[in-house]
Amino acid sequence: MPMTRIALSPVTAVTLDPHAPVMQDAAIHVEDGAITYVGPAHDAPDFEADEVRGGEHLVAMPGLINTHCHAAMTLLRGYADDMALEPWLQDRIWPFEAGLEEEDVYWGTQLAIAEMIRNGVTCFADMYFFHRRATEAMVESGVRACPSASIIGVFPDVPGQIAEARSYASEAAGAGDGRIRPCIAPHSLYTCEREHWTAVVDAAGELGVPIQTHAAETRAEVEEVRKRWGATPIQTLDSLGALDVPLIAAHCVHLDDTDLEVMARRRDGRSAVRVAHNPASNCKLASGVAPVAELRRRGIDVGLATDGTASNNRLDIWSEMRLTALLHKAVELDPTTLAAEEVLEMGTLGGARVLGLEAEVGSLEAGKRADVVLVDFDRPHLHPPHDVVSHLIYSAQSADVVTVMVDGQLLYDGGEHLTVDVDRAMAEVDARARRLATAAAG
Ligand SMILES: [Zn+2]
Repeated sequence: MPMTRIALSPVTAVTLDPHAPVMQDAAIHVEDGAITYVGPAHDAPDFEADEVRGGEHLVAMPGLINTHCHAAMTLLRGYADDMALEPWLQDRIWPFEAGLEEEDVYWGTQLAIAEMIRNGVTCFADMYFFHRRATEAMVESGVRACPSASIIGVFPDVPGQIAEARSYASEAAGAGDGRIRPCIAPHSLYTCEREHWTAVVDAAGELGVPIQTHAAETRAEVEEVRKRWGATPIQTLDSLGALDVPLIAAHCVHLDDTDLEVMARRRDGRSAVRVAHNPASNCKLASGVAPVAELRRRGIDVGLATDGTASNNRLDIWSEMRLTALLHKAVELDPTTLAAEEVLEMGTLGGARVLGLEAEVGSLEAGKRADVVLVDFDRPHLHPPHDVVSHLIYSAQSADVVTVMVDGQLLYDGGEHLTVDVDRAMAEVDARARRLATAAAG
């Protein structure tokens, strides 16, 4: 990667650094992929930049983090909507996915990455089929990602899947100049057996990688897990030792008091379970609303996520932030619930904490990797400038993103993708989705 020195100056910096959360007339210097200075432009050290972006209408903020998705499900966007979960999965999603080939996942992932980058998402956690080919798409695009090898107990050769997850997790660690941070992803308690889970927990512990899984998404799932395992999903995961390695749990909609106590248990100053909150997906599939305000009151790490595009249908953390800020106020009947600052934290630094990346990304601070987004506030819906953080949550939208960099590399600038051939990705996904839909219907 060519080492570019980039200056963002002057900008309004929304840093997520508690010491100076919002700075007017700021400068940000980026060198060798890292942030070397964030502070007042007039105090900035001399810096010879190769690239400069600045203007009083530009707001710089940390890249958004999507803590749970199935990127290549872009192939299924709009294919089946407004259905109950069971027939949706069994009659529509799974027959379509049965025809998937490696190259479909590659192009589906490319399209997802293009969409996320232009929406200001600089890092995402992924869980899908053909993870090695998907990882290639991530490496090529310059994005930061936590991909995972999935284990699905209802598929053949589970020991082979676990062995592959082990070798993938060790081989992919540090790929893409350190941007790729693999995980192991047993799909859920209802699709994997006890011996699968035990082997996965052992592997994750040995390799020092997080586990990603789905947990407590629907009431029906909780009932099924109770019947099969004799306890709630969270308490079952605890008894399996899954909470003793970093556990990234998607959804956590249906929790009881004991679940919350177990989840809040501390390990290295962190909650035992880190929650990927998927508000749009949970609404669309009528799963319910996760008790996010209560999770946060108990000190449990919560980040935001989109889930796959079959159940959202956007890969857009802006709309998840706005929905999060609105939904939980309505549920709690309390307009002070999840203020704009808190929701912005969940979309950035909180997401980094969920993925275990908070020492590297999630805020604009000298020493962190340069995953930075510029938002253009010279738009009618972003005036007058009373409160920049309020505007980011309640008024801004993904189309206001004008520049995106990861590790100091520009990925999107002035309306252009610099690392993804987006026209080809759209054409490939259209043709492949047509083929898969025809096969599923046949
Ligand atoms: Zn999911």
